Amino acid sequence: MRVLIVGAGPTGLTAAVELARFGVSTEVIDRKKDPSSLSRAVGILPRSLEILTPSGVTERLLAEGIKIREVKIFKQRRKILSLSLRGGHPSTDFGLALAQDRTEAALRDRLLTFGGSVSYGKTLSSLEQDKKQVLARFADGSQAAYDYLIGADGVHSTARDCVGIEYAGFDLPETWSIADVDAADWPNQQALTLCLPGPGQVTVVAPLEATRYRVVSNTADALASLPLALRIVRRHREAQFRISIRQAVNYHSGRVFLAGDAAHCHSPAGGRGMNLGIADAAELAHRMVENRLAGYSASRHAAGARTIAESERLRRLLTSSGRVKRTLTVGAFRLIDTLPLLQRPLARRFLDA
Ligand SMILES: Cc1cc2nc3c(=O)[nH]c(=O)nc-3n(C[C@H](O)[C@H](O)[C@H](O)COP(=O)(O)OP(=O)(O)OC[C@H]3O[C@@H](n4cnc5c(N)ncnc54)[C@H](O)[C@@H]3O)c2cc1C
Repeated sequence: MRVLIVGAGPTGLTAAVELARFGVSTEVIDRKKDPSSLSRAVGILPRSLEILTPSGVTERLLAEGIKIREVKIFKQRRKILSLSLRGGHPSTDFGLALAQDRTEAALRDRLLTFGGSVSYGKTLSSLEQDKKQVLARFADGSQAAYDYLIGADGVHSTARDCVGIEYAGFDLPETWSIADVDAADWPNQQALTLCLPGPGQVTVVAPLEATRYRVVSNTADALASLPLALRIVRRHREAQFRISIRQAVNYHSGRVFLAGDAAHCHSPAGGRGMNLGIADAAELAHRMVENRLAGYSASRHAAGARTIAESERLRRLLTSSGRVKRTLTVGAFRLIDTLPLLQRPLARRFLDA
């Protein structure tokens, strides 16, 4: 079987590793000149750890990542909920924090041990297909034929555009911001810290490494919006970004299959995007090996729609500026803080169990 995987992000690399595990070698290309050192996703959920266990990738992720066993929620400077993630998933009572570039490195290194590799600096520019094959054309003027093409080429997917699949949805009007910093004496090193600094605002701090933190906010300046003291030693990057909530209406056209951000995107609320892409990639690889590709689009579209709806519920809840909704939300968090019985269902939602 000749398979081209376009995109060496977490989705494309997972597809390549899973296919390699079953003896299917692939060609993986990425238009970037080198592996990215920029990280977007931090949170790896238990389901992704399960998916990546048979290939051996999880072992390395666990060795490098930080186990998050608690979510702390603050209204301005006051803590209103300490949520234990214990019991939130049948086998794993933590989420793993690891910078996305290190997750990608673990996948890429595993692919190498299976005899695979990534061709960096190679760009898909167009494709044509008939019943028997897909002809891919590259920006360097070369072309090659494949049995299948996996479009794991992110939000601005060339593969999706070439087969004319609509990416339906909308763009959020506000600007979000992100900062990666080294900081000393942060008391919540092994927790996800979620702050509600003011009406309609949310700012999250997640550990990346022993003394490095990611701060994300739906405001234009993540660090300025943080109501808690963070003693910054070094600023690695600060950036702003916009968010779209979109889903491909179909994940499949002929011999071309979409996975990951090429098929869906949503806000970082809940930290689901990369995890959803990993699950798409694994299911696609297994269906390819077992010759069951017909059900892929329906199955993963439904999973994507569920995740987008859940992420949107959480984003709307946390960013609501309505006084009544916000008072009720804060009240509910305070109540959950005092009643441990209510913690487990919320922990399940955080761990996506
Ligand atoms: C601030 C932020 C925080 C986030 N936090 C989380 C989190 O905590 N947890 C989580 O699960 N998700 C999170 N996400 C989402 C997550 O980063 C994405 O869902 C994930 O990167 C998608 O992976 P992917 O492999 O599908 O696409 P990408 O990572 O976008 O990879 C696509 C690759 O395709 C390549 N490419 C594109 N076009 C071509 C072409 N024509 N030819 C060849 N190569 C091409 C690109 O160079 C790129 O390397 C976050 C996102 C943001 C913005």
